[in-house]
Amino acid sequence: MDQKLYEQIVKNFFTCDPAAITEIFREFIMAVQAEGTLPPSAHMAQNYETAQANPEIHVLPGNLKDARDAVFPYFWGTDSWSSKLHLENVKGPANYASLVGALACLLKNPNLCTDTYSQRSNELEIKAVTALANLLFYHTDDPWGVFTMGGTISNLYGAKIGIEKVAPGAMRNGLSGGQVAGIVSEAAHYSNQSVAGWLGLGTKNLHAIPTDEGLSMRLDLLAAKLEELHGQGVKVAFVTATFGTTDGSGIDDVAAIRGILSDFANRHGVAAPQLHVDAAVGWVLSFLTEYRTDANELGFTERLLELVKQAQEKASGLRAADSITIDFHKMGWGHYPGSAFLVNRRQDLRYLSRSVEETPYFCEADGRRDPALFTLECSRPALGPYTVMASLNGMGLTGWQLLVARALGLADELKQRLEALEYCKVLNLDAVGPSVVWWVLPKGRDAKEIYRRVLAGEMAPEKFEGYAAEIRRLFEKREKGMDPAVDARLSYTTNVGHKANGLALPGWKAVFFNPMTDEKVIERLMFSIEELL
Ligand SMILES: *Cc1c(COP(=O)(O)O)cnc(C)c1O
Repeated sequence: MDQKLYEQIVKNFFTCDPAAITEIFREFIMAVQAEGTLPPSAHMAQNYETAQANPEIHVLPGNLKDARDAVFPYFWGTDSWSSKLHLENVKGPANYASLVGALACLLKNPNLCTDTYSQRSNELEIKAVTALANLLFYHTDDPWGVFTMGGTISNLYGAKIGIEKVAPGAMRNGLSGGQVAGIVSEAAHYSNQSVAGWLGLGTKNLHAIPTDEGLSMRLDLLAAKLEELHGQGVKVAFVTATFGTTDGSGIDDVAAIRGILSDFANRHGVAAPQLHVDAAVGWVLSFLTEYRTDANELGFTERLLELVKQAQEKASGLRAADSITIDFHKMGWGHYPGSAFLVNRRQDLRYLSRSVEETPYFCEADGRRDPALFTLECSRPALGPYTVMASLNGMGLTGWQLLVARALGLADELKQRLEALEYCKVLNLDAVGPSVVWWVLPKGRDAKEIYRRVLAGEMAPEKFEGYAAEIRRLFEKREKGMDPAVDARLSYTTNVGHKANGLALPGWKAVFFNPMTDEKVIERLMFSIEELL
């Protein structure tokens, strides 16, 4: 064996050289700063044509700069969404407290599967999930939770607990004993479809309850669906309510759903379905729970105080949930993956647990605290706990309140300004959240009247198709004429989450996700709409 070469590898790649590492890190940071002076867009075009044609691996060992060079073109070619002009989606810049947490985590690289592999990092996870559970369930007695690979997987945990509740032993026996179903709203995230498919429930057994015009699940139709399924001998394993729909910030009434489920279970003598709440986007409203609107120490405007009160009222519904999905990598402005699955009562995790005999790798695992005994994942990164605790305690509750309130305030400002134009109609006027979905029609059209006729069922589908085409055409016209240096980037959705008499409502969409976005961006956006027509 070439001992010299071997030693060189150990020296270059397994020995920490602070100077070499910080120098490369400095270079990356300078590239990020340079990027900040450019308009938001991909600075380098993708090259899929030959991405697979040249999958070369260097032959000879190099050094850390070779590692840098291997990724740099793609790093430079990737937008970090730090521009204040990004309003397209629930994607924003990660905060730098999160970066500090992430770097600390990566330097130690703990594995959260058991506490022997992670030591104090599992303790940090318990701290993080308890802090989040106290915020969301509001000082609940015995919560628990784990960080997962993403909101999709957190939703999967909730659904799986429900399946085990109504079909005991499914983990071992599969879904053999009768039909099992789940329920969501028609505005729910598509990840629930993935969950139903992957859990073996089958996507056709995931029932979507229509929403009302406020984008919330229709409670009368939920109650009817429960009865209908029960009448057919189908067991309902879970109802996944959405707290903040991805497009329009719609919120299901969790407390009312709890009432319906309890009533249903009592009347029929069956196990209540798991009430899981997908709060991947909307969970941050909970930061406002303890804001004293009477003292108003942060000096919010009257209008903003009104929004904060609405947020408090909505967030109080979360206390009725059995389990919740939150994504820190969305409105927590954290790094991926930062998703947590939280349960209101720790004992519910027993539905997921396996015995130590079934997990022989972890024969010394302690069922009281080793997540590997109930997690879907085996190895789990500790990025979630590190980025979340760094972000929570870096900014503090007050910092979070300011950030969340500001996003709500900007969304509200855009809503009010759009709604004041005759040819525009905001489709989520009463939703409390960071997103705005709306129509822009040609000048001269009465957008509110068209909307009213759609809701009242007075609009023929062919006629509506014509209006929808106009809404889309105007969106595309703005895209074509955009000045990337000043015009905000928006997105377009073909279905904002409500079907009015069978008609899916399309909409322009803006999400106030970037803390740097300001009134000037809104000003220019309004100008770009008025200029279009
Ligand atoms: C994004 C999103 C998800 C999926 O979360 P991932 O972390 O992307 O897997 C689930 N539900 C809602 C409401 C979402 O917005």
